[in-house]
Amino acid sequence: MTDTPYGFDTLQIHAGARPDPATGARQTPIYQTTAYVFRDADHAAALFNLQEVGFIYSRLTNPTVAVLQERVATLEGGVGAVACSSGHAAQIMALFPLMRPGDNVIVSTRLYGGSITQFSHTIERFGWSATFVDFDDLDAIAAAGDENTKAIFCESISNPGGYLTDIPAVAAVAEGLGVPLIVDNTLATPYLCQPISQGATLVVHSTTKYLTGNGTVMGGVVVDSGNFDWSASDKFPSLSQPEPAYHGMTFHETFGSLAFTFHGIAIGLRDLGMTLNPQAAHYTLMGIETLSLRMERHVENAMTVATWLENDPRVDFVTYAGLPSSPYRDRAKALYPKGAGAIFTFAVKGGYAACVKLVDSVEIFSHVANLGDTRSLIIHAASTTHRQLTADQQEAAGASANVVRLSIGTETADDLIRDLDQALAVAVK
Ligand SMILES: *Cc1c(COP(=O)(O)O)cnc(C)c1O
Repeated sequence: MTDTPYGFDTLQIHAGARPDPATGARQTPIYQTTAYVFRDADHAAALFNLQEVGFIYSRLTNPTVAVLQERVATLEGGVGAVACSSGHAAQIMALFPLMRPGDNVIVSTRLYGGSITQFSHTIERFGWSATFVDFDDLDAIAAAGDENTKAIFCESISNPGGYLTDIPAVAAVAEGLGVPLIVDNTLATPYLCQPISQGATLVVHSTTKYLTGNGTVMGGVVVDSGNFDWSASDKFPSLSQPEPAYHGMTFHETFGSLAFTFHGIAIGLRDLGMTLNPQAAHYTLMGIETLSLRMERHVENAMTVATWLENDPRVDFVTYAGLPSSPYRDRAKALYPKGAGAIFTFAVKGGYAACVKLVDSVEIFSHVANLGDTRSLIIHAASTTHRQLTADQQEAAGASANVVRLSIGTETADDLIRDLDQALAVAVK
């Protein structure tokens, strides 16, 4: 073979996987085990001291989960990854090595509703805080930074409106502040966007969504670019200073570009226990094998449905960034050339009441609090996923009372249009 790097379609099937050394099994086995037999006492001691990499206990590492970690890290162009029990777990696991009590993270106002709640309330229990900023205002991001800022967090394609973040521009602000940029790449997937190639330090996913693809299992992952110099300042002592729990070993000095990933496993999973189980890892690996094929159809269908909706008199506006009328059109072309995803909102004439009637009238679309499924999904964010937010927060997040969010699936596009047509006829008189 030549040295030509494999293409995405090849890597999504093969990266991280090899025939099982014990049996030759071609598909990655589900290693349904809690623990692993040590060769002898010296082997056990070396593993516990992190002098040798291997399997001890499945809260930390498991062979099926390890294949998933390597596959997602490869597709994202990172050096390593830590799989977690959910996307929300991945967000905590991404911040945990960076933050101490009193520290803050600058986050976009346009986020998944659950992330807004996690950042505005729950992380306060750890003594952390979040400053919410409009990420189209780069000066405001820079101005929000202070000596306790330890990270910047945004979504590549943002929920629920499908807005697009200018990752290279935000990465430049992060570099100016000397902190890592964390990008939630759930809605784009590495097929549509690779944040690391645009300057992000860390990428998080809810693998619950497109990576698994069919609404079966929960999961998350944190991918590390390996590009950040954790010792350049004294901001990140968990990575740059001696760790008492491992006899004073320093993660950055010992593991170099893999410091964040090793910390995530040896401290994060060990002590927080947000571990992905091997069954879920297996389902997600199966899903990733067809990621590019599904994303192409998701994007094609989203464009067809969004175009139809925009021309319908019962609709006030459609936020899909792939539309020629979108203010994000140029950004879409430059940074998301394979498509602007398949999640967007549209405003229904008749406001809140019409939106509620619409979600009650669809037949193919499922009314669920999920996205990134092969099935098309619909939800009225203001009364569900973004319900806990104030009206101002809803507005800033793109989840006002008059909009409905669609997650366009891979069905026949004409069927989706016919379904929305009949539901709009009921909702808007
Ligand atoms: C669903 C989702 C999350 C949370 O992931 P879970 O797997 O549900 O914990 C985070 N970010 C985005 C963009 C999501 O869509």
